[in-house]
Amino acid sequence: MPARVRYLLAMRETGDIRGELELPREEMRAMGYAVVDRLVERLDGLGEAPAWRGASREEMRERLAGAAPEEPGAFESLLDRLDETVLPYRGSVDHPRFFAFVPSSPTWPGILADFMAAGHNVFQGTWLESAGPSALELEVLGWFKEWVGYPAGAAGLLMSGGSAANLTALATARSARLGDEWSDGVLYVSGETHSSVVRAARILGFRRDRVRQVAVDGDLRLDPGSLAAAMAEDRAAGLRPFLVVANGGATSTGTVDDLERLGSVCDEEDLWLHVDAAYGGFAILTDPGRRALAGLERADSLTLDPHKWLFQPFEVGCLLVREGTRLVDAFHIMPDYLQDTEVRSGPLPDDAEVNFADRGLQLTRSFRALKIWLTIQYYGLGAIRRAIAAGIELAERAEERIRASETLRLVSPAALGVVCFRSDDGEAGDAERVRRLSESGLGMISSTRVRGEYALRLCILNHRSRWRDVEAVMAAIEAPVEAG
Ligand SMILES: *Cc1c(COP(=O)(O)O)cnc(C)c1O
Repeated sequence: MPARVRYLLAMRETGDIRGELELPREEMRAMGYAVVDRLVERLDGLGEAPAWRGASREEMRERLAGAAPEEPGAFESLLDRLDETVLPYRGSVDHPRFFAFVPSSPTWPGILADFMAAGHNVFQGTWLESAGPSALELEVLGWFKEWVGYPAGAAGLLMSGGSAANLTALATARSARLGDEWSDGVLYVSGETHSSVVRAARILGFRRDRVRQVAVDGDLRLDPGSLAAAMAEDRAAGLRPFLVVANGGATSTGTVDDLERLGSVCDEEDLWLHVDAAYGGFAILTDPGRRALAGLERADSLTLDPHKWLFQPFEVGCLLVREGTRLVDAFHIMPDYLQDTEVRSGPLPDDAEVNFADRGLQLTRSFRALKIWLTIQYYGLGAIRRAIAAGIELAERAEERIRASETLRLVSPAALGVVCFRSDDGEAGDAERVRRLSESGLGMISSTRVRGEYALRLCILNHRSRWRDVEAVMAAIEAPVEAG
């Protein structure tokens, strides 16, 4: 008999544990401390560790292959194995010099809150099963509503991320504007719209030609004139325009669409305006962000992503709907086996006891509000505002650095933490710069296309990043690449 099973049987004799999957208190503590110690070491040493380490499928297969073991393993040696064979092979999106894609740098209270949420294992689909945690989610959603300028009648929910929020938004807009006869409905996006919006339309069953890509203006903003022309054409063809999706910070360049103007167009044409602010929405907590996002409150619905610029661990996204009853109308279904969970509704959706399962895809939901609440209560909103503002400022400084550089050329100006640029070497040379930086482990950036042209892209929204980190990465990028 393996030692561990003997040990467990002995513990069972003492009455300290009952089943084989239970653990004695002291062992639970020791395991928890071991995990915390390793995480603290990792986070404290982030800047010295590589920002990225890749591996091929073959290499990883060699490190990991093996059937599920029948017999138990020792916890510390399993942690060692993970530290050696799994966890190093990844991009550290919380590394201070990781400026690729969209970085995410969770706070320690946020990380601990996710651990707590798992430990409490709250079922947050119904009020009956989670009055406290659901009230806390309403509290957090109430803060978000206030920050974006939404009325008390707005409602929303937390979910896995921006993609889920955009899907939920499109389903809500379709239900509100088209009802059951939706096959003639047309939605409008731009070339800068996030792919998750187009995917959401696909999932919801819209034909590809019902998703109209409208031209952008010289500043990459959805062009209202082209939008009006496209809608007129579609109406003339017997179709029903119902939704415009605007950017509250495009992922590629940080550009914000003219939300005031699009709000007016949608009012006049009776269309739903969804603003995808997954990337940039929380910048509204800063002065420059508030200016950039002017008109955000005109959105009928909006997507936020706390796991981006609110410094939360994956996964948490958020959808807010200005007329909250629209969200519930789109999703509410009450099956017999949940009849005990029926709640009384109030005059406003968020006044009532809320079954969050009535607001989206998930029935079983984890307690995502906890990490946001604990982070903001612990640090105070002031610290969060300053951390967001610091990213915006670093990107502006990076823009100046590019303008002053002999080798680098600005492609799109700093906007909500993103700046795009290139060298004179062309795509091959710049792609080599991206690769060389990742391989070095010093930092990481990624690339995009701006008006069809290849561009290097820095995305700076980690509260750990300092100017010296940005400077180190830019100096490495600027260095000449070998010809060939
Ligand atoms: C990141 C992002 C999304 C997708 O969000 P996930 O959290 O990755 O699902 C959608 N829209 C925009 C603008 C984004 O930046």
